[in-house]
Amino acid sequence: MLKGIPASQGIAVGKVRKIEPPVLRIIRTTADPDTELQRFRKASGETVNDIEKIRRLASDRLSPKELAIFEMHLLLIRDASFVNGVEDIIRNEHINAEAAVQEVSGRMIHEFETMDDTYFQERAADVKDVTFRLLCHLADRALPDVKLIDEPVIIVAKDLSPSDTGSLDRRFVLGFATELGGRTSHTAIMARSMEIPALVGVKDLMNTVQDGDQVILDAVTGTLIADPSAEQSAAYSVYADAWRGERESLKVLKQEESITRDGHHVEICGNIGSPDDTGSIIANGADGIGLFRSEFLYMRNETGFPDENTQYEAYRSVLERMGDRRVVIRTLDIGGDKQLAYHSFEREMNPFLGARAMRFCLAHEDVLRTQFRALIRASAHGKLAVLFPMIATTTEFRRAKEIWLEEREKLKQAEIPMADSTEIGVMIEIPAAAVIADQLAQEADFFSIGTNDLIQYVMAADRTNDKVAYLYEPFNPAVLRMIRMTIEGAHKHGRRCAMCGEMASDELAIPVLLGMGLDEFSMSAGSVLQARKQIRSLDYSETVPLARKVMELSSQEEVIACIKEYMLK
Ligand code: PEP
Ligand code: MG
Repeated sequence: MLKGIPASQGIAVGKVRKIEPPVLRIIRTTADPDTELQRFRKASGETVNDIEKIRRLASDRLSPKELAIFEMHLLLIRDASFVNGVEDIIRNEHINAEAAVQEVSGRMIHEFETMDDTYFQERAADVKDVTFRLLCHLADRALPDVKLIDEPVIIVAKDLSPSDTGSLDRRFVLGFATELGGRTSHTAIMARSMEIPALVGVKDLMNTVQDGDQVILDAVTGTLIADPSAEQSAAYSVYADAWRGERESLKVLKQEESITRDGHHVEICGNIGSPDDTGSIIANGADGIGLFRSEFLYMRNETGFPDENTQYEAYRSVLERMGDRRVVIRTLDIGGDKQLAYHSFEREMNPFLGARAMRFCLAHEDVLRTQFRALIRASAHGKLAVLFPMIATTTEFRRAKEIWLEEREKLKQAEIPMADSTEIGVMIEIPAAAVIADQLAQEADFFSIGTNDLIQYVMAADRTNDKVAYLYEPFNPAVLRMIRMTIEGAHKHGRRCAMCGEMASDELAIPVLLGMGLDEFSMSAGSVLQARKQIRSLDYSETVPLARKVMELSSQEEVIACIKEYMLK
């Protein structure tokens, strides 16, 4: 039995599909050209089969534009200059097929990357992708591509990237377990919004579990059982039914208000990563959408930055489905652990402290302006609010807002329909922003506290690094002070303060946040009803002194003990 961190709650039983990158063999010494030519041709054929299979499996999920990427990959692998280039080198230089493929593709990648046109620059990623697939086949191991999965499985991997997670097909993937990762990594966040049971940080996973093993993935208690006995399987099926039954019973709260016993109203909203997640937000009766992480649209796109119309349609569909409920769409937050297949980011020593989110967008204004236009047009279709991520200074906020107003004015001149006004908020996730919250509140319409980042920046503890997980603690007094400062800063100027980081759904945190005066709690859809149940069981008048008491404590252990004592009363 292995233990891990439940990243996305749920229970799944099934066969393991292990995702393990093959070890590549590049030999630059003399090889038999005929054998190498045969190997190259065989691997090319297998690569073509892979790409065709992915295209078939993805055909009903992707737009024609997204599907075109696979055409591009097929063109590349069949491209005469590529094929002849590799074969000539094998014949003339007597190196092995791997080395010849690397040499030719390396040249092509360089040529694309140094072109002026961004469309062609982005093609370098396609060449890398196809080359890697080809090299894997040369190593006699198909690229362990999650997109090729076409039967019900539980994925087991060392780690999954957020974009791999985004491309999982829910029809086949029953759940996943990874050796690395924490609850607030974007892979975990993605799994929650897609409602795929997931366990992360499972020590020894790759050594213990083999491809094809039968496992029970319990992402409620954080357990993975390999090769369960008949009794264990039977016990789990009873337990899984009970768990599902309990969740079902929360559904009675779907239409109920998010209100404390003594009549204090808050909002409990949902976080989404894609328009497809809107259904479960509605099914769980959330009061609105407190965070739409728009970057997942950019990460799912494989061909390039999504254009204005594609984005407009995505935002519009969410706004229309949510009706008069508010939808907060966060502008592109890329960088850190979120990368784009089609854009080469400059290498940074500390990507989480680098040109991420609004910093990236202000340096790539065309990307930001396109998104703004899509949002402004979509504002005509519902109750939109826009949120700027990773703001550290009032100057950044002002510049972003200025660009917003410029785009708005242009669309107005062109008589494009739009909302009369749109609230613009700031994510408070950098300590500097929390400290100047009272100043930012004079200019922003609302705040949303991003504790996933705020904690990592306050504590200087990478949110994805389990070696410093002991520091990554929401109940640390330094973190709590930052939160209080933010709420007070917002309220001083009559602004609303929300929280959309994972802490907002933490059962221990909710009474304290309520007592501090937090106005909105935003979380994954699956947590909404549980949080509403808890809020409805609390007395606001009791949580205010609790929050005050907690603020006087000087260690996270004391804070947690104090909250637990309160909850036991
Ligand atoms: C956060 O930082 O708390 C947040 C909600 O944003 P993300 O997790 O996408 O960085
Ligand atoms: Mg963040």
